[in-house]
Amino acid sequence: MQLEFKDKLFINGKWIETEKKIVVNNPATNQVIAYVAHAEANQVIQAIDAAETALIKWRKVLAKTKANLIMEWCHLMLKHQNEIARLITLECGKPLKEALAEVIYAASFVQWAAEQAKRIDGVIISGHLDDVENKVHYEPVGIVGAITPWNFPAAMVTRKIAPAIAAGCTIVLKPAELTPLTAYYLADLASKAGIMPGVINLVTGDAPQIGRILGEDARVRKITFTGSTKVGKTLFAGSANSLKRMSLELGGNAPFIVFEDANLEEALAGLIASKMRNCGQTCICPNRIYVHKQVYTKFAAMLKDELAKMKVGNGLDADVVVGPLINQAAKVKVKMHINDAMTKGAQLYFGGSDLAGNFMQPTILINVAPNSQVAYEETFGPLFALFQFESDEEVLSLANASEYGLAAYFYTQNYKRINKMRNDIEAGMIGINSVYLSTDVVPFGGVKSSGFGREGSQLGIYEFLNTKYSLYKY
Ligand code: NAP
Repeated sequence: MQLEFKDKLFINGKWIETEKKIVVNNPATNQVIAYVAHAEANQVIQAIDAAETALIKWRKVLAKTKANLIMEWCHLMLKHQNEIARLITLECGKPLKEALAEVIYAASFVQWAAEQAKRIDGVIISGHLDDVENKVHYEPVGIVGAITPWNFPAAMVTRKIAPAIAAGCTIVLKPAELTPLTAYYLADLASKAGIMPGVINLVTGDAPQIGRILGEDARVRKITFTGSTKVGKTLFAGSANSLKRMSLELGGNAPFIVFEDANLEEALAGLIASKMRNCGQTCICPNRIYVHKQVYTKFAAMLKDELAKMKVGNGLDADVVVGPLINQAAKVKVKMHINDAMTKGAQLYFGGSDLAGNFMQPTILINVAPNSQVAYEETFGPLFALFQFESDEEVLSLANASEYGLAAYFYTQNYKRINKMRNDIEAGMIGINSVYLSTDVVPFGGVKSSGFGREGSQLGIYEFLNTKYSLYKY
């Protein structure tokens, strides 16, 4: 399949060439696949200017017209799903089947936003004085600055752009430098769908500089960011002067708890599905796997049997289910977590082999000590760190002993325990006997150092709306 690369900045509906370039590599081969535009500071400001001009018209466009345009974008994404999936695999490494699933997932946010664009309704509240009417309605926050990570090159982009523009905002988005091609391709489809020039603008370049410009420019009224906690904090501080609305979808360190009464087959299937998605490089991946003492040995053996069947390789090969890590730095981090845990007493139970390039064999460590690095830092790779526990109180305290609070999972059949854990685990999202947390219809987001704000569902649209109250005396 011949792929068309969109490699220039997308500002005010035009493709803008730059002198400087960003090199994009294929993580499966380490070969260069494209050279993408690197914006100068003035070009980032031009993108904000374009968003400012477009906002005047876009916010007034009839809701139904906005909805139709956004829906057309969704249709084009689905029509071009194979091309988009191939781009995702090329720049991010995930197997083609998974990339295709990401395109459908990414399109679902666009479809949801198109449908909801018509349902941004206000309310009339009973008067608190004689002859008055209280009206509450919603207005777009204005220009949005968005920054996305590399692990979902399509879905993180649509999960921000679609609700923002459905709410009547305009946007300047900076995709990750490792995976910009998918984002530019999606922007092109949005333009082909008829979304007005300037409503969606994309720039790539020096990330700290772009972050600083978006943060400091008072015309930008909202920052929405998905990425590491460290960068989230920088953006939060950098936006303080102009008091912007913020949504921060940050790192995680999800606990995955298997109680003694769990359906072990279901727990195993859930663990592998969630942990091995994108080779362990998702923010809601189980990172700390707590297994009750009574089922520990059996569960570890079952896990080993399943991992032994998984083929690692280039995501473009049909039978591959585990792609590469994104780069060498990612591999070094996984190896560091393995070495650290083993120094603290863990035993290597499966895997551990260093494969060529950015590839890594899925690995199981057993008897991992609670003071291991993997217990308090996100690994972002195919490491299954199995901790052992004996009581509910013990595992609840271990689960909450983390600065992060994005996702958490547990498997049990006991209703009282379900209620207690659901209420007491500190996380924005909890999977009980299932791991499929993220869809267009539910609010995705975290607590503690995993950030704040929600994406998906009606709440995801309200992140881009200001509430306006007016009192009217007749
Ligand atoms: P990252 O290093 O924070 O990068 C994310 C984005 O921020 C990229 O576009 C990056 O640009 C940009 N960036 C880097 N430094 C910046 C700065 N000083 N100012 C402004 N922008 C800056 O994170 P990552 O390694 O790409 O992604 C992995 C992290 O994202 C993990 O912690 C993961 O848990 C988290 N994540 C969270 C969610 C969620 O929904 N909670 C979803 C996915 C991933 P460049 O690419 O140009 O450097």
